[in-house]
Amino acid sequence: MSRHELAVIIRDPAGLHARPAARLVEEARRHESALRVVHAGAESALTSMIALLALGVRAGDEVVVRGDGPDSEDAVRAVAALLGDQGGDPAPAPAEAASPAEDSPVPPGDDGLRGVPASAGRAVGVIRHLSRLETLTADVPTVLEVEGVLTTVAARLRDQAQQADESSAVILEALAELALDPQLTAAARSRLATGLPLSEAFTAAGEDVAAVLERSQDSYLAARAADIRHLAADAAALALGRVIDVTELGEEPCILVASDVSPSLLSALGRSRLAGVVTEQGSASSHASLIASSLGVPMVVAVPDAVERLPHGVVAVVDGAAGSIELRSGAPVPTFEEAAGSEEPTAATPISTLDGHRIQVAVNVGSVTELHSARTATVDGVGLYRTELSYLSRTSAPSEDELTAELSEAVRSLAGQRLIVRTFDFGSDKQPPFLTAVDEPNPALGVRGIRLARLRPELLRAQLRAVSHAAQQGPVGVMAPMVTTVDDVVWFVDQVRQHVDPQAQVEVGVMLEVPAAALAAVEIVKHVDFVSVGTNDLVQYLNAADRQVGHLAGLQEPFAPVLLRLLKSICDAARANGTWVGICGAAAADPDWAALAVGLGVDELSVPPAAVARLRRRLTGVRLDELELVAAKALRTGTPEAVRDLARVGRPE
Ligand code: PEP
Ligand code: MG
Repeated sequence: MSRHELAVIIRDPAGLHARPAARLVEEARRHESALRVVHAGAESALTSMIALLALGVRAGDEVVVRGDGPDSEDAVRAVAALLGDQGGDPAPAPAEAASPAEDSPVPPGDDGLRGVPASAGRAVGVIRHLSRLETLTADVPTVLEVEGVLTTVAARLRDQAQQADESSAVILEALAELALDPQLTAAARSRLATGLPLSEAFTAAGEDVAAVLERSQDSYLAARAADIRHLAADAAALALGRVIDVTELGEEPCILVASDVSPSLLSALGRSRLAGVVTEQGSASSHASLIASSLGVPMVVAVPDAVERLPHGVVAVVDGAAGSIELRSGAPVPTFEEAAGSEEPTAATPISTLDGHRIQVAVNVGSVTELHSARTATVDGVGLYRTELSYLSRTSAPSEDELTAELSEAVRSLAGQRLIVRTFDFGSDKQPPFLTAVDEPNPALGVRGIRLARLRPELLRAQLRAVSHAAQQGPVGVMAPMVTTVDDVVWFVDQVRQHVDPQAQVEVGVMLEVPAAALAAVEIVKHVDFVSVGTNDLVQYLNAADRQVGHLAGLQEPFAPVLLRLLKSICDAARANGTWVGICGAAAADPDWAALAVGLGVDELSVPPAAVARLRRRLTGVRLDELELVAAKALRTGTPEAVRDLARVGRPE
């Protein structure tokens, strides 16, 4: 018997993840030889995707492919070639909505709930509890065994993949491979041998295998643990003859509410049935979230007690970018036409308080396409153009020409309203394949935003030159994310000076979203035309609470008096220097919070387009002196709840 080995460096920024692992297992099946992957002293047979994933192979790691058998040379070469060729396969990027945990228009309490944004978009629909749709079918095959059930689960996933769009199909194929994994089969068999009924054996086996993956404490593998549980649940349902009765979904657009949903269920229900999805479990990078995104169905995950708090049959609005759900008890059941994006249009007239104090209200967008569909809502242009979002699955960095074309089109479409471009906020959870992933124990505290720009100035240079060209078409501002020190600010302003034509009159700003920078506002404002407060990050860093962790959502509290005091100090410092202050984080989309911010001295609010109408209603109905009084009281208040009560003053009924 011959043995061959080859060493391979993994180039995929996401390491060895589910989709390449599925392809490797498939390739290994074509060969007679026994194949293994060895990594850091551990090894896995190329028959099991689960064992391969559990190796925890990361970008830059070296692995050895080993083959024993008659065709070992060919087999090792073929597998090594696949492994070494993973650089172009986009990592399973978290759903777009996860990174811009955009706004939180609905405070917890009230009629609203909050969770983790998983698929962007906004929709109205009737709540349907998944548990109420489950029913038993009459035609359960009488002889069922472990392999038969798992093969059927895999076959169904492959059928779904045939019908699905390209990105969903890849996920569904990988899941089908996972369903046939020998480790899952072995775990189910051994549970069955202990006397458990078949369906319970699958559930228990799912837990056994998921526990192995979770032990790695790697968030990617933890999400795959969720996949295993879903597959085990699908197998258990099949063994019991439990199916989803889609007729129970009714004819109206439906918001599916469940403890958790599987990617296969979402794919089977498809867009025609679903207006939105809300789950108690799940994460923004789960396969269910990715399928929801590719279906274009808004989804919010990790919503505590969603099933209990969102009653079956009641109308609700899901905002997948904000991660919020608002109950509309008693509201008429919407039609499918009304279900998507049904926020009243706004007239593009300026927004002022009753006594004529003008407030700039801009919008947050992540692409030119998004800007085009937001144009009816724009009053004061774009306050935050998240440039990184369009490049998250790119395998090459965008060129100056590409960026110029994109930004020029954005400026032109605003027809004289200002575009504020935020330079790339790559890093943390926004890692495009063209940047080598840095292995960081705490990515949110790592190399992101301007920290990355300082390491890769050529990326910033291309962007600033594009800004300079685009500014020939209309008013433009540019700001840097994640500045921490005054030195960061000085460096950024210097880069703008070097690469942006002074004739272009581009306004220069920085985001204040790191507490150290917010506390240094008095120094920072001396160097810039404006500052824009990123409350999403500022709140997460103030509270040392990751904004992506669902069960810490309660700490992402924008009404916290400490945050308001910090904001007041920023406004005072800026006003004394003649620098204007904007807010582009989620909090600004909540009308009561926005009213407080105006009372504290904020000049501009930049919000998702759908929130402009409600800010107009809220701010045009009060006087500035009322808002200033309320804001001053809020600063002396001890709790977020008390601040919320105060902030209702002047709210239209
Ligand atoms: C923020 O942090 O508030 C912000 C607007 O930036 P992002 O959500 O894109 O991090
Ligand atoms: Mg931010």
